[in-house]
Amino acid sequence: QHQRAYNFNAGPAALPLEVLKRAQSEFVDFRSQGMSIMEMSHRGAVYEQVHNEAKQLLKELLHIPEGYDVLFLQGGASTQFAMVPMNLLAGGKVGAYVNTGSWASKAVKEAELIGETQVIASTESDRFMRMPTAEEIVAPENAAYVHITSNETIEGTQFATYPDTGDVPLIADMSSDILCRPVDVSKFGMIYAGAQKNLGPSGVTVVIAKEELLANSPKTIPSMLRYSIHHKNNSLYNTPPSFSVYMVNLVLQWLKERGGLEQVERDNQAKAELLYGTIDNSGDFYRGCAARDSRSIMNVTFRLADEELEKAFIKEAGEAGFVGLKGHRSVGGLRASIYNAVPYASCEALAQFMKQFQQKNG
Ligand code: PMP
Repeated sequence: QHQRAYNFNAGPAALPLEVLKRAQSEFVDFRSQGMSIMEMSHRGAVYEQVHNEAKQLLKELLHIPEGYDVLFLQGGASTQFAMVPMNLLAGGKVGAYVNTGSWASKAVKEAELIGETQVIASTESDRFMRMPTAEEIVAPENAAYVHITSNETIEGTQFATYPDTGDVPLIADMSSDILCRPVDVSKFGMIYAGAQKNLGPSGVTVVIAKEELLANSPKTIPSMLRYSIHHKNNSLYNTPPSFSVYMVNLVLQWLKERGGLEQVERDNQAKAELLYGTIDNSGDFYRGCAARDSRSIMNVTFRLADEELEKAFIKEAGEAGFVGLKGHRSVGGLRASIYNAVPYASCEALAQFMKQFQQKNG
């Protein structure tokens, strides 16, 4: 039998082996229904239980307060870039954006197509290699919301603490770090995330939001793009991505069994420290891209002295069983994505490989 790869893919990314095996074991005959979950009606009791349980587990793990709803939507986080302004930018208000890198920039671009948009803080002049401090982020009075990207997947930066935007709803794209640590959901108006990093397979996007932000969508936008429609219909207005929701349910159960998000954060810290430690102790052979206080514990980005050496690193790493270490094509360099499901042992193996590669080439 082929060994599991050391999977450092940025997304879709590694899923817990236990989850894959559980899905495999109930794949053909789900709960004695004589069919897989993909083959049954989304209006039936069996699917509905899986759907509602996934919602419940997310509420439990993130301690989501009363007055919030959880939606399962399609179209990826990219569709949220449009849905947020379409639903929330009404009546002369402005969408305030914090531009921290590749994904934040995409959110801004999309919002500009729809309404009045303002970039209220940006780290572009630092090549997006750091996150802004809380003081740099001030919500304008006429802001409908402040939008941030909690973790920039491509640059490898992450907010250590979140800005306080007072009465202005704070909206976060948490696609690449949701559930990596505990978070005080009450500080946010809305959190959204594509599933394919920390939540499950691609195909479903989770939206967690205050009900008041979900309830008042303009009637002029198409039904499928209205939060209010999905909110009223428990995300069953149309056919949901049922298999993806089921997989998210299994991942959430797995996180709960691991001991919740405090434990998950400790494990993530240990993995990140191991890799950043290897970089920092390499005498500049490896160079971390992000400013230290903005380093992501999900996406570790680093460089070697030149692109030739980086190519050799990727090639040799591939031969040794490491997958997904090439940096995003827009920035180059190297990136190890170490989401929740990436085992510590994979990071140990990578640290070992990095040291050996340095010995040979340093
Ligand atoms: N935001 C962030 C932070 C991401 O990492 C990604 C995907 N890599 C997206 C948005 C876009 O997500 P999707 O492909 O689900 O539209």
